[in-house]
Amino acid sequence: MIPFDVLASDPDSHARAGEFVTSHGKVETPVFMPVGTHGAVKAVTPDEVRQCGAQIILGNTYHLYLRPGLDIIESAGGLHRFMGWDQSLLTDSGGFQVFSLADLNEITEDGVVFQSHLDGSRHQFSPAHSMRIQRILGSDIMMAFDECAPYPAEKQYAAEAMRRTHHWAELSLEYVQKNGPLYGYDQNVFGIVQGGTYEDLRHVSAEYLSRLEFDGYAIGGVAVGEPKKDLRRTTELTASLLPEDQPRYLMGVGKPVDIVESIAAGVDMFDCVIPTRNARNGLVYTWHGKRPIRNAAYADDQTPIDEQCDCYTCRRFSRAYIRHLLNMNEILGHRLATLHNLHFFLKLTRRARESILAGQFSAWKNEFIRTYAED
Ligand SMILES: [Zn+2]
Repeated sequence: MIPFDVLASDPDSHARAGEFVTSHGKVETPVFMPVGTHGAVKAVTPDEVRQCGAQIILGNTYHLYLRPGLDIIESAGGLHRFMGWDQSLLTDSGGFQVFSLADLNEITEDGVVFQSHLDGSRHQFSPAHSMRIQRILGSDIMMAFDECAPYPAEKQYAAEAMRRTHHWAELSLEYVQKNGPLYGYDQNVFGIVQGGTYEDLRHVSAEYLSRLEFDGYAIGGVAVGEPKKDLRRTTELTASLLPEDQPRYLMGVGKPVDIVESIAAGVDMFDCVIPTRNARNGLVYTWHGKRPIRNAAYADDQTPIDEQCDCYTCRRFSRAYIRHLLNMNEILGHRLATLHNLHFFLKLTRRARESILAGQFSAWKNEFIRTYAED
């Protein structure tokens, strides 16, 4: 089991500050994980991602399996070496993409048959396939293969998907236990709780998976289009049902206030594409909310994106300049906006952590929500 130390807990909520160590370094929680779908955090180099404060990033199994393919990544010695990232790496199971991007042909007890969203070619993912791919990618944290039911889902379907997820969780662990790590360092496995928005299913799922020997647990099946109140309720409930002494990861969340509220619910790890995707679309984050930087209002605004930010972009460049670059579709505009947004999200979880360690999380959270003034 991955040693996870809880260093401090907030007396007024379930927030905690902790740390765990993988073979590629220490991860201090709460932590935000930038997403590197194709083996790159879009527009920035690994060194820049590290300088923004990242200790762990995420790679996507489904995309990397399709392109460039496993042979090339294995011959590089794994994804860390292929992409030049020497810190911790988490890979998803591919399940979410198979269910959301690919054309599904068949779901059976054994796995899923699907057609690639790229060229229609036919593939099969089973728990063993998914873990084999992640073993070759060489991630420090692998995710068990799961089925994420869509929202909305009838209860009967959500229950079937959950039951398959439990069966697949056992098969995923079995594969990992039979096949040691490929590159000589430990690979941990997290289980994924499902159950849709149904509280009784979440109870069943959390209890079932907690009995298996996972290194940590993820809350899956949230941020899939459900109303905000369901996202919060499901996150709070599921986090409260998971083991205290293991990391809890909320998949695909999210917006700054959702992250902060979920930290209060006891979540330790987050990933989301929004800082990088929104940067390229001209939405930049500040402690007073996000700004559509391409708007005419910023055409002659010579101040930085955020006066309080000490990132490379804010130290050197104005809103007017970033706006101009983005409107000209200059690559540098994408790079500078991405650097700033990553810096903001990483600073957000860092500040949450510091406030928990200082025993001031609730005051910090209230002040953040008041000044950020968006949901
Ligand atoms: Zn900045």
